Amino acid sequence: MALILTYLHRMETLMNEIYERIIDRLDFASVITLSGSSGAHRRRIHGMFMHDYNRLLRAFVIDPDSLRGLMRRTGSIIVGSAPLALIQRIRGTRPFESLEICTAIEFHEPVLRHLMDNEDFTLLKIQNVTDENGYGHSCNAAVSVIATLHGPPRSLPGTNPIVEVFASTESCAILPVLFSHTTVVMNWLGADSLTMLCPLLTLAKRGLINQRYAMDDNNPPALIPAAEATVAKYRAQGYDLQFEPYTWNISHRCTMSAICPHTARSVGDIGTLQLHFGSKAFIDSDVGTSEEDEIIWKLGGGACHGYDYATKGCYCKFVGDKKGPRSIAYPDGTEETV
Ligand SMILES: [Zn+2]
Repeated sequence: MALILTYLHRMETLMNEIYERIIDRLDFASVITLSGSSGAHRRRIHGMFMHDYNRLLRAFVIDPDSLRGLMRRTGSIIVGSAPLALIQRIRGTRPFESLEICTAIEFHEPVLRHLMDNEDFTLLKIQNVTDENGYGHSCNAAVSVIATLHGPPRSLPGTNPIVEVFASTESCAILPVLFSHTTVVMNWLGADSLTMLCPLLTLAKRGLINQRYAMDDNNPPALIPAAEATVAKYRAQGYDLQFEPYTWNISHRCTMSAICPHTARSVGDIGTLQLHFGSKAFIDSDVGTSEEDEIIWKLGGGACHGYDYATKGCYCKFVGDKKGPRSIAYPDGTEETV
Protein backbone atom coordinates (compact mmCIF):
# COMPACT_ATOMS: atom_id res chain seq x y z
CA MET A 1 0.00 0.00 0.00
CA ALA A 2 2.80 2.39 0.98
CA LEU A 3 4.53 1.55 -2.31
CA ILE A 4 1.41 2.39 -4.31
CA LEU A 5 1.00 5.70 -2.47
CA THR A 6 4.64 6.58 -3.11
CA TYR A 7 4.20 5.75 -6.77
CA LEU A 8 0.98 7.79 -7.05
CA HIS A 9 2.69 10.70 -5.32
CA ARG A 10 5.67 10.53 -7.67
CA MET A 11 3.37 10.36 -10.64
CA GLU A 12 1.88 13.71 -9.64
CA THR A 13 5.17 15.40 -10.48
CA LEU A 14 5.70 13.85 -13.92
CA MET A 15 6.10 16.25 -16.80
CA ASN A 16 2.91 16.79 -18.77
CA GLU A 17 3.92 14.84 -21.85
CA ILE A 18 4.74 11.66 -19.92
CA TYR A 19 1.74 12.04 -17.62
CA GLU A 20 -0.63 12.42 -20.57
CA ARG A 21 0.82 9.38 -22.33
CA ILE A 22 0.19 7.25 -19.25
CA ILE A 23 -3.35 8.57 -18.82
CA ASP A 24 -4.07 7.98 -22.52
CA ARG A 25 -3.46 4.27 -21.99
CA LEU A 26 -5.92 3.94 -19.11
CA ASP A 27 -9.62 3.25 -19.43
CA PHE A 28 -12.18 5.70 -18.06
CA ALA A 29 -12.76 3.88 -14.75
CA SER A 30 -9.01 3.75 -14.02
CA VAL A 31 -8.61 7.43 -14.83
CA ILE A 32 -11.47 8.33 -12.49
CA THR A 33 -9.99 6.19 -9.72
CA LEU A 34 -6.62 7.88 -10.15
CA SER A 35 -8.21 11.33 -10.18
CA GLY A 36 -9.74 10.53 -6.79
CA SER A 37 -6.37 9.75 -5.21
CA SER A 38 -5.27 13.36 -4.71
CA GLY A 39 -6.11 16.94 -5.56
CA ALA A 40 -3.06 17.14 -7.84
CA HIS A 41 -4.16 14.14 -9.92
CA ARG A 42 -7.72 15.43 -10.03
CA ARG A 43 -6.67 18.84 -11.33
CA ARG A 44 -4.43 17.35 -14.02
CA ILE A 45 -6.93 14.72 -15.13
CA HIS A 46 -9.91 17.03 -15.14
CA GLY A 47 -7.83 19.48 -17.14
CA MET A 48 -7.18 16.70 -19.66
CA PHE A 49 -10.89 15.89 -19.86
CA MET A 50 -11.64 19.56 -20.45
CA HIS A 51 -9.07 19.58 -23.24
CA ASP A 52 -10.68 16.48 -24.82
CA TYR A 53 -14.13 18.04 -24.42
CA ASN A 54 -13.08 21.24 -26.19
CA ARG A 55 -11.33 19.30 -28.96
CA LEU A 56 -14.51 17.30 -29.50
CA LEU A 57 -16.60 20.51 -29.65
CA ARG A 58 -14.18 22.11 -32.13
CA ALA A 59 -15.17 19.45 -34.66
CA PHE A 60 -18.58 21.19 -34.65
CA VAL A 61 -18.12 24.81 -33.59
CA ILE A 62 -15.45 27.50 -33.88
CA ASP A 63 -15.82 28.72 -30.33
CA PRO A 64 -16.36 25.95 -27.74
CA ASP A 65 -16.12 28.48 -24.89
CA SER A 66 -19.09 30.47 -26.21
CA LEU A 67 -21.14 27.32 -26.64
CA ARG A 68 -20.29 26.19 -23.14
CA GLY A 69 -21.11 29.68 -21.82
CA LEU A 70 -24.53 29.42 -23.44
CA MET A 71 -24.99 25.96 -21.97
CA ARG A 72 -24.08 27.34 -18.54
CA ARG A 73 -26.63 30.17 -18.84
CA THR A 74 -29.45 28.02 -20.17
CA GLY A 75 -28.77 24.69 -18.44
CA SER A 76 -28.51 23.04 -21.87
CA ILE A 77 -26.61 19.77 -22.11
CA ILE A 78 -24.91 17.60 -24.72
CA VAL A 79 -26.29 14.06 -24.90
CA GLY A 80 -25.93 10.87 -26.93
CA SER A 81 -22.66 9.96 -28.62
CA ALA A 82 -20.47 12.87 -27.43
CA PRO A 83 -20.48 12.03 -23.70
CA LEU A 84 -20.15 8.36 -24.59
CA ALA A 85 -17.08 9.13 -26.75
CA LEU A 86 -15.42 10.79 -23.73
CA ILE A 87 -16.38 7.85 -21.50
CA GLN A 88 -15.07 5.35 -24.05
CA ARG A 89 -11.98 7.56 -24.44
CA ILE A 90 -12.34 7.64 -28.23
CA ARG A 91 -9.84 10.22 -29.43
CA GLY A 92 -10.94 10.70 -33.05
CA THR A 93 -11.74 14.28 -33.92
CA ARG A 94 -15.35 13.46 -34.68
CA PRO A 95 -16.11 9.87 -33.78
CA PHE A 96 -19.85 10.33 -34.38
CA GLU A 97 -22.09 11.95 -36.97
CA SER A 98 -23.96 14.65 -35.13
CA LEU A 99 -23.70 16.65 -31.95
CA GLU A 100 -26.91 16.34 -29.92
CA ILE A 101 -27.90 19.20 -27.63
CA CYS A 102 -30.87 19.10 -25.25
CA THR A 103 -32.47 22.32 -24.04
CA ALA A 104 -35.30 23.26 -21.72
CA ILE A 105 -38.29 24.15 -23.91
CA GLU A 106 -37.87 27.91 -23.34
CA PHE A 107 -34.20 27.89 -24.39
CA HIS A 108 -34.54 26.04 -27.69
CA GLU A 109 -34.78 29.22 -29.75
CA PRO A 110 -31.79 31.01 -28.09
CA VAL A 111 -29.59 27.95 -28.70
CA LEU A 112 -30.63 27.81 -32.37
CA ARG A 113 -29.96 31.56 -32.71
CA HIS A 114 -26.48 31.14 -31.23
CA LEU A 115 -25.60 28.38 -33.70
CA MET A 116 -26.97 30.31 -36.70
CA ASP A 117 -25.77 33.83 -35.78
CA ASN A 118 -22.39 33.03 -34.19
CA GLU A 119 -21.40 29.74 -35.78
CA ASP A 120 -22.86 30.07 -39.32
CA PHE A 121 -25.11 27.03 -39.05
CA THR A 122 -28.04 26.70 -41.43
CA LEU A 123 -31.35 25.33 -40.21
CA LEU A 124 -32.11 22.26 -42.33
CA LYS A 125 -35.39 21.29 -40.70
CA ILE A 126 -37.39 21.85 -37.58
CA GLN A 127 -40.00 19.34 -36.48
CA ASN A 128 -42.61 19.67 -33.79
CA VAL A 129 -42.86 16.10 -32.64
CA THR A 130 -45.51 16.27 -29.95
CA ASP A 131 -48.81 14.51 -30.48
CA GLU A 132 -52.23 16.04 -29.80
CA ASN A 133 -51.77 15.36 -26.07
CA GLY A 134 -48.43 17.12 -25.87
CA TYR A 135 -46.38 13.92 -25.56
CA GLY A 136 -43.10 13.64 -27.39
CA HIS A 137 -42.76 11.39 -30.42
CA SER A 138 -41.82 7.72 -30.37
CA CYS A 139 -38.06 8.38 -30.37
CA ASN A 140 -38.35 10.09 -27.00
CA ALA A 141 -41.53 10.91 -25.08
CA ALA A 142 -39.89 13.94 -23.44
CA VAL A 143 -38.79 15.68 -26.66
CA SER A 144 -41.12 18.29 -28.15
CA VAL A 145 -39.11 19.86 -31.01
CA ILE A 146 -36.13 18.61 -33.01
CA ALA A 147 -34.06 21.09 -35.04
CA THR A 148 -31.38 19.85 -37.42
CA LEU A 149 -28.63 22.28 -38.42
CA HIS A 150 -25.82 22.02 -40.89
CA GLY A 151 -22.59 23.95 -40.41
CA PRO A 152 -19.46 24.87 -42.37
CA PRO A 153 -16.42 22.55 -42.17
CA ARG A 154 -14.55 22.77 -38.89
CA SER A 155 -11.51 20.90 -37.69
CA LEU A 156 -12.08 18.10 -40.22
CA PRO A 157 -11.56 19.58 -43.71
CA GLY A 158 -14.27 18.76 -46.23
CA THR A 159 -16.87 17.52 -43.80
CA ASN A 160 -19.82 19.55 -42.61
CA PRO A 161 -20.95 19.13 -39.04
CA ILE A 162 -24.54 18.34 -38.14
CA VAL A 163 -26.01 19.52 -34.86
CA GLU A 164 -29.39 18.37 -33.61
CA VAL A 165 -31.06 20.49 -30.94
CA PHE A 166 -33.82 18.80 -28.97
CA ALA A 167 -36.29 20.82 -26.93
CA SER A 168 -37.56 19.09 -23.81
CA THR A 169 -41.33 19.04 -23.29
CA GLU A 170 -40.67 20.87 -20.00
CA SER A 171 -38.37 23.44 -18.36
CA CYS A 172 -35.86 20.68 -17.70
CA ALA A 173 -33.13 19.95 -20.23
CA ILE A 174 -32.26 16.55 -18.78
CA LEU A 175 -35.79 15.15 -18.96
CA PRO A 176 -35.26 13.48 -22.39
CA VAL A 177 -32.22 11.65 -20.97
CA LEU A 178 -34.47 9.99 -18.40
CA PHE A 179 -36.65 8.64 -21.22
CA SER A 180 -33.78 7.13 -23.23
CA HIS A 181 -34.26 3.71 -24.80
CA THR A 182 -31.27 2.34 -22.93
CA THR A 183 -29.19 3.26 -19.89
CA VAL A 184 -26.08 3.31 -22.12
CA VAL A 185 -26.98 6.84 -23.22
CA MET A 186 -28.15 8.12 -19.84
CA ASN A 187 -25.14 10.43 -19.66
CA TRP A 188 -24.64 14.08 -20.49
CA LEU A 189 -22.06 16.81 -20.74
CA GLY A 190 -22.91 20.01 -18.93
CA ALA A 191 -20.93 23.19 -19.54
CA ASP A 192 -18.24 22.01 -17.12
CA SER A 193 -19.15 18.51 -16.14
CA LEU A 194 -19.89 14.96 -17.21
CA THR A 195 -22.75 13.07 -15.57
CA MET A 196 -23.46 9.33 -15.79
CA LEU A 197 -26.72 8.09 -14.29
CA CYS A 198 -25.83 4.38 -14.56
CA PRO A 199 -22.03 4.21 -14.30
CA LEU A 200 -22.06 0.74 -12.69
CA LEU A 201 -23.59 -0.66 -15.86
CA THR A 202 -22.11 1.62 -18.51
CA LEU A 203 -18.51 1.25 -17.33
CA ALA A 204 -18.97 -2.53 -17.42
CA LYS A 205 -20.26 -2.16 -21.01
CA ARG A 206 -23.73 -3.22 -19.90
CA GLY A 207 -27.05 -1.52 -20.30
CA LEU A 208 -30.70 -1.99 -19.43
CA ILE A 209 -33.32 -1.51 -22.13
CA ASN A 210 -36.11 0.84 -21.09
CA GLN A 211 -39.09 -1.53 -21.21
CA ARG A 212 -41.62 1.26 -21.01
CA TYR A 213 -40.38 3.48 -23.81
CA ALA A 214 -38.47 1.07 -26.05
CA MET A 215 -41.22 -1.57 -26.33
CA ASP A 216 -44.53 -1.64 -28.17
CA ASP A 217 -47.92 -2.72 -26.76
CA ASN A 218 -48.02 -6.07 -28.55
CA ASN A 219 -48.17 -9.38 -26.73
CA PRO A 220 -45.39 -10.35 -26.36
CA PRO A 221 -43.96 -6.83 -26.56
CA ALA A 222 -41.24 -6.11 -29.14
CA LEU A 223 -38.75 -3.28 -29.50
CA ILE A 224 -40.13 -0.28 -31.40
CA PRO A 225 -38.16 0.41 -34.63
CA ALA A 226 -36.33 3.47 -33.25
CA ALA A 227 -35.22 1.50 -30.19
CA GLU A 228 -34.24 -1.47 -32.35
CA ALA A 229 -31.76 0.74 -34.19
CA THR A 230 -30.34 2.11 -30.93
CA VAL A 231 -30.03 -1.33 -29.35
CA ALA A 232 -28.34 -2.73 -32.49
CA LYS A 233 -25.94 0.22 -32.58
CA TYR A 234 -24.73 -0.21 -29.01
CA ARG A 235 -24.64 -4.00 -29.21
CA ALA A 236 -22.36 -3.56 -32.23
CA GLN A 237 -20.13 -1.39 -30.01
CA GLY A 238 -19.83 -4.27 -27.55
CA TYR A 239 -22.49 -3.29 -25.00
CA ASP A 240 -24.42 -6.14 -23.43
CA LEU A 241 -28.01 -4.85 -23.43
CA GLN A 242 -30.62 -6.72 -21.40
CA PHE A 243 -34.10 -6.17 -20.01
CA GLU A 244 -33.31 -6.86 -16.36
CA PRO A 245 -30.22 -7.20 -14.14
CA TYR A 246 -30.87 -10.90 -13.39
CA THR A 247 -29.65 -11.83 -16.87
CA TRP A 248 -26.08 -10.91 -15.85
CA ASN A 249 -26.32 -13.23 -12.86
CA ILE A 250 -25.32 -10.46 -10.49
CA SER A 251 -27.17 -10.09 -7.23
CA HIS A 252 -29.05 -6.91 -6.57
CA ARG A 253 -31.53 -5.72 -3.97
CA CYS A 254 -34.70 -5.14 -5.88
CA THR A 255 -36.02 -1.57 -5.50
CA MET A 256 -32.83 -0.67 -3.57
CA SER A 257 -29.78 -1.20 -5.81
CA ALA A 258 -28.80 1.50 -8.27
CA ILE A 259 -28.85 -1.09 -11.09
CA CYS A 260 -32.46 -2.18 -10.43
CA PRO A 261 -34.98 -0.69 -12.88
CA HIS A 262 -37.47 -0.42 -9.98
CA THR A 263 -35.28 1.65 -7.70
CA ALA A 264 -36.39 5.26 -7.31
CA ARG A 265 -33.19 7.09 -8.20
CA SER A 266 -32.41 10.76 -7.92
CA VAL A 267 -30.06 12.69 -10.15
CA GLY A 268 -26.91 13.12 -8.07
CA ASP A 269 -27.52 10.12 -5.76
CA ILE A 270 -24.75 7.68 -4.85
CA GLY A 271 -25.46 5.68 -8.01
CA THR A 272 -24.66 8.76 -10.14
CA LEU A 273 -21.15 9.64 -11.25
CA GLN A 274 -20.55 13.30 -11.89
CA LEU A 275 -17.19 14.77 -12.76
CA HIS A 276 -16.61 18.46 -12.66
CA PHE A 277 -13.82 19.55 -14.96
CA GLY A 278 -13.06 22.62 -12.88
CA SER A 279 -11.57 22.75 -9.43
CA LYS A 280 -14.55 21.21 -7.66
CA ALA A 281 -14.67 17.63 -6.41
CA PHE A 282 -16.58 14.78 -8.03
CA ILE A 283 -20.13 15.57 -7.11
CA ASP A 284 -21.49 18.86 -8.24
CA SER A 285 -24.93 20.36 -8.36
CA ASP A 286 -24.61 21.23 -12.05
CA VAL A 287 -27.19 18.77 -13.31
CA GLY A 288 -28.37 20.68 -16.34
CA THR A 289 -31.72 21.81 -15.05
CA SER A 290 -32.97 25.35 -14.77
CA GLU A 291 -34.98 24.47 -11.68
CA GLU A 292 -33.77 23.51 -8.23
CA ASP A 293 -36.22 20.66 -7.72
CA GLU A 294 -34.78 17.30 -6.98
CA ILE A 295 -35.19 15.07 -9.98
CA ILE A 296 -36.31 11.57 -9.11
CA TRP A 297 -36.57 8.89 -11.78
CA LYS A 298 -36.68 5.19 -12.43
CA LEU A 299 -36.95 2.96 -15.45
CA GLY A 300 -39.84 0.76 -14.34
CA GLY A 301 -41.02 -2.04 -16.59
CA GLY A 302 -41.66 -5.71 -15.85
CA ALA A 303 -40.74 -7.35 -12.56
CA CYS A 304 -37.14 -8.36 -11.96
CA HIS A 305 -36.68 -12.12 -12.13
CA GLY A 306 -37.79 -13.83 -8.94
CA TYR A 307 -39.63 -10.85 -7.54
CA ASP A 308 -43.38 -10.83 -7.24
CA TYR A 309 -43.59 -7.20 -8.07
CA ALA A 310 -43.95 -5.11 -11.15
CA THR A 311 -44.76 -1.58 -12.04
CA LYS A 312 -45.08 0.19 -15.30
CA GLY A 313 -43.66 3.44 -14.19
CA CYS A 314 -40.84 5.39 -15.75
CA TYR A 315 -41.46 8.66 -14.03
CA CYS A 316 -39.81 11.89 -13.13
CA LYS A 317 -40.88 13.68 -9.98
CA PHE A 318 -39.94 16.97 -11.53
CA VAL A 319 -42.95 16.89 -13.79
CA GLY A 320 -44.73 13.71 -12.82
CA ASP A 321 -45.40 11.10 -15.43
CA LYS A 322 -47.96 12.15 -17.98
CA LYS A 323 -48.45 8.67 -19.37
CA GLY A 324 -48.10 6.43 -16.37
CA PRO A 325 -49.42 6.08 -12.85
CA ARG A 326 -48.52 8.78 -10.37
CA SER A 327 -47.98 6.29 -7.57
CA ILE A 328 -45.39 3.58 -7.12
CA ALA A 329 -46.44 0.25 -5.61
CA TYR A 330 -43.84 -1.28 -3.30
CA PRO A 331 -43.45 -5.02 -2.56
CA ASP A 332 -44.84 -4.65 0.97
CA GLY A 333 -48.11 -3.32 -0.42
CA THR A 334 -47.51 0.34 0.38
CA GLU A 335 -47.71 3.04 -2.24
CA GLU A 336 -45.84 6.22 -2.73
CA THR A 337 -47.42 9.12 -4.55
CA VAL A 338 -45.05 11.06 -6.74
ZN1 LIG B 1 -34.74 -5.44 -9.32
